[in-house]
Amino acid sequence: MTPIDLRSDTVTRPTPGMYEAMRAAPLGDDVLGDDPTVRLLCERLAALFGKPAACFVPSGTMANLCAVRALTNPGDEILLHRDGHVYHYESAGFAAIAGCAPAFIDSPDGIFGPEALAPLIRPRSPHFAPASLVVIENTHNRAGGVVWSLAQVAAVSAEARRLGLRVHLDGARIWNASVKTGVPVASFAAHADTVACCFSKGLGCPVGSAVLGEVEVIERVLRSRKMFGGAMRQSGMLAAAALYAIDHHIDRLAEDHANARIFAEAIAGAPGLHVDMQRVQTNMVFFDLDPALGSAGDFCDRLERSGVRMLPAGPRTIRAVCHLDVNKAQVEHAAATVSSAARAT
Ligand SMILES: *Cc1c(COP(=O)(O)O)cnc(C)c1O
Repeated sequence: MTPIDLRSDTVTRPTPGMYEAMRAAPLGDDVLGDDPTVRLLCERLAALFGKPAACFVPSGTMANLCAVRALTNPGDEILLHRDGHVYHYESAGFAAIAGCAPAFIDSPDGIFGPEALAPLIRPRSPHFAPASLVVIENTHNRAGGVVWSLAQVAAVSAEARRLGLRVHLDGARIWNASVKTGVPVASFAAHADTVACCFSKGLGCPVGSAVLGEVEVIERVLRSRKMFGGAMRQSGMLAAAALYAIDHHIDRLAEDHANARIFAEAIAGAPGLHVDMQRVQTNMVFFDLDPALGSAGDFCDRLERSGVRMLPAGPRTIRAVCHLDVNKAQVEHAAATVSSAARAT
């Protein structure tokens, strides 16, 4: 039996329609600048996000790194959430490659207010690293797919501008935030200098992310992409998948959100499992285990033997993510498997 794979929304396979779009896409050489499908994707994205320019890159990690590098100078400080993807999951590229130091923002749910910024800005002096950038992550991955409202983004962005900081929006799952709130992605993007978005998460593409911003900023992004080895040749094949996903896979994210809620509600009553329902806002569910249930790693191993895949997200925390390749019945089955694993211990 094929396992029900809830490890991440990155595990999806292209749908038949997406494969067909990839097969049919006109191709060129994007490093030479003439792949028509990549060009079309960049135009579509620029219009969708209300930004003058876009750059297609292989991964969200590269999108964030190119953006950070475009908006900072080596030796700058960047303000970021301690649980943010840029700090937690990107192998410190912002430090190793962009040459930036982190100034941490802490909050329980990945969201912070404008008042978090000023205390981290140090006096202008040759002693101190100048802060130049703040990173916002919407939806916030490690907080459980928590959504920043437009008002929250706007407030932090206004304060950042007042303090002379630029703003990068890590929007790997910005479409989840948009579908959840009904706010167009362009409205979120209006409060950021750069936006990174991913097609290989909820949108179901095999590969691909993008960075959006002003023309001069995207010129810098293009240089970094080349330097990092991320400039691709007949990448129109991948851009075609992204275009297909923009047309067909955005609205359906609401199903993933509904399935995550179904899963969370179904396991909430099981002995020894704890879910913070406040944080179940989009397609992710993080739940904690009582010590009697053993470690998250062992619990995931037991689930794996029952045909259900999830990832440990901490010593006693497990993450389940709903996506295009799991339907309601499979999510219900996964919840029943988790509940009976908890009862059996
Ligand atoms: C997945 C993710 C990224 C990028 O990850 P890649 O695996 O490099 O595509 C960036 N930010 C957030 C919040 C993510 O969840």
